[in-house]
Amino acid sequence: MKIDTTHPVMVTGATGYVAGVLIQKLLDAGLTVHAAVRDPEKKDKLRYLDEAARTASGTIKYFKSDLLKQGSYAQAMAGCQVVFHTASPFTIDVKDPQKELIDPAKLGTRNVLEEANRTPSVKRVVLTSSCAAIYGDNADLNKTPEGIFTEEVWNTSSSLEHNPYSYSKLLAEKEAWEINKKQNRWELVTINPTLVVGPGLNPFATSESFNLIRQFGDGTMKAGVPNLGFGIVDVREVAQAHLNAAFTPQAKGRYILHGHDSSFPDMANALMDKFGKDYPIPRRTLPKWLVWLVAPLVDKAMTRKFIARNVNYPWKGDNSKSKKDLGIRYRPLKASMEDFFQQMIDSRQVEPSS
Ligand code: NAP
Repeated sequence: MKIDTTHPVMVTGATGYVAGVLIQKLLDAGLTVHAAVRDPEKKDKLRYLDEAARTASGTIKYFKSDLLKQGSYAQAMAGCQVVFHTASPFTIDVKDPQKELIDPAKLGTRNVLEEANRTPSVKRVVLTSSCAAIYGDNADLNKTPEGIFTEEVWNTSSSLEHNPYSYSKLLAEKEAWEINKKQNRWELVTINPTLVVGPGLNPFATSESFNLIRQFGDGTMKAGVPNLGFGIVDVREVAQAHLNAAFTPQAKGRYILHGHDSSFPDMANALMDKFGKDYPIPRRTLPKWLVWLVAPLVDKAMTRKFIARNVNYPWKGDNSKSKKDLGIRYRPLKASMEDFFQQMIDSRQVEPSS
């Protein structure tokens, strides 16, 4: 299927971290972007998108849409051949996971894709899923057929009670494939990133990625970090993958976006050369028993079950499909971490130790 780049493209969750970098690329490519946001009147949230549009050859138009309001994506989607559905809450600190995570992720995806069913111009939907739809705990690696997470694997260990964010991403992606199967006009391609790092268009984005990196420099982690393994990918590669998934006719199915098999200690090491002298970058790896004992008291997402099934377990992911089909080249972890941390310094979100 060939996509006509003279048509506008739509992006849901345009105020988000991943969406910001994607929109920058779409505008630079000269496209007209229909940006679906919760509140177009909140000009401070749109400031960085407006700035990007000012210097790019493309154009941005805002539309008021909410994942939980049926019909609210109709205007934004009208005339678009490509829909990028990035909107979904990415937060770990929730009181009511059903209301705060599952409903917007799953019902929101249904809402957007049912709109695609009603919009004759739509030919392809690129859904921002996650590796969270592929695995729940690092211990799941032991159950994979080849000892590595691939696009064939689905998360079977998350639930409303255990890793609810991952569960929300699993349910949303499954919902998307179900809706896609029942029609034959638009194709679905999913992008399944590991933890996304790297500078955002908006240095003050509220994504959990920002909260995590900030903690590497604001003293929260100065006593040390658990040996928690996970995959990491740069936001610039994730954004490029969305673009290539939309405009590469043969792109098909799920794509793991994953730069490096990594861990908290690896992330700290990547920052040490450049920032270790002036900022409280963690230097110690905490023993699992200590994490098991203390972490649940200070961070309610770190349950004992989570620690038992994740700490001291490695993470391994296969990114070969994204390289082969989408032409993605992954930059070194050190470059992503340094650029991200520098943005935190420049925006005064971390201060040097006195
Ligand atoms: P983010 O900055 O928090 O972006 C989330 C976006 O979703 C925001 O634009 C937010 O709008 C929007 N949103 C949330 N609830 C909404 C609702 N009810 N109606 C309309 N919009 C709503 O997080 P992100 O990291 O960019 O995440 C973007 C996507 O990437 C998500 O699907 C996430 O699951 C996926 N992902 C992220 C990572 C990562 O490490 N960051 C990894 C894998 C996958 P407001 O600005 O109005 O709140």
